[in-house]
Amino acid sequence: MAHQSHWTFGASTLQRVVESEEALLSPFEIFADCTQAHLDANRGWLMPRFQDPHSGILAITIQSFLVRQAGLTILVDACGGNGKERARPHFHRRNWPWLDRLREAGVAPEDIDVVLCTHLHVDHVGWNTRLENGRWVPTFPNARYLVARREWDYWRTAGPAALVRTGDFITDSVLPIFDSGQAELIGDTHALKSDIAIEAAPGHTPGLSMLRLQGGGSEAILCSDLMHHPLQLRYPDWSTRFCVDPIQAARTRASFLKEHANTGRLIFPTHFPSPTGCTIQRDGSSYDFTYCGEAEAQIGRSSGD
Ligand SMILES: [Zn+2]
Repeated sequence: MAHQSHWTFGASTLQRVVESEEALLSPFEIFADCTQAHLDANRGWLMPRFQDPHSGILAITIQSFLVRQAGLTILVDACGGNGKERARPHFHRRNWPWLDRLREAGVAPEDIDVVLCTHLHVDHVGWNTRLENGRWVPTFPNARYLVARREWDYWRTAGPAALVRTGDFITDSVLPIFDSGQAELIGDTHALKSDIAIEAAPGHTPGLSMLRLQGGGSEAILCSDLMHHPLQLRYPDWSTRFCVDPIQAARTRASFLKEHANTGRLIFPTHFPSPTGCTIQRDGSSYDFTYCGEAEAQIGRSSGD
């Protein structure tokens, strides 16, 4: 396990809490537009960090983010969780030491004030709940769980077909936070503090939310599943097969990349491998990225080929 990276943005600190980091998805399974020729053209920077050289499977990190200010502790997303019945082996009846990692970061479950569910997918809601006496109860007893109204409107009417691929995470990991009265539906923009704001980034799911931190002359954007893999910087129009609205997802990604490229802002796409935080540089109609935040920083596509 690599050391936990910290970043500071004015009054806020940002830290990752990793559940898993491994080769997880075939590039052809996740991206309908991806061919072997695309992979060959990017081999120099993809392997070994972003694509397993032996299997060709893409590295996908499953993680949460902790944002802390004096008097406020925010957890952004909740990974896959433990003991859940799932259709996909990576998430099925797991026993991850994620709560230990949270405690290693100095945070107990009772300390979390706000959980931001950036969207309601299997790899983002698992630790919303844990099993207690045979019942799924909220893991964070003192937290408000924020969910975009548009997101909840989609899932509460989506029906069983939307859950076939993963298993029913809504029943065990989302409904209990509504039952306990801890869920709070929010609009497209929502200010948590003057320097911490939630913004909408629809497409991957209808209510996908991002968190923006400002301070100390810099800025970070936790952009959740706006992108799943750095290949989407080279091919920004690639949405995933798991996007609810792939065309809207590509539109949202295009405007996001245009807005944030060449600004020095740190971008944290949830599934990018460690250390995740990167800046984005325009390169014609594509983009490059530069990783930041650990001793071996300054890695990215540009240094690989
Ligand atoms: Zn995800």
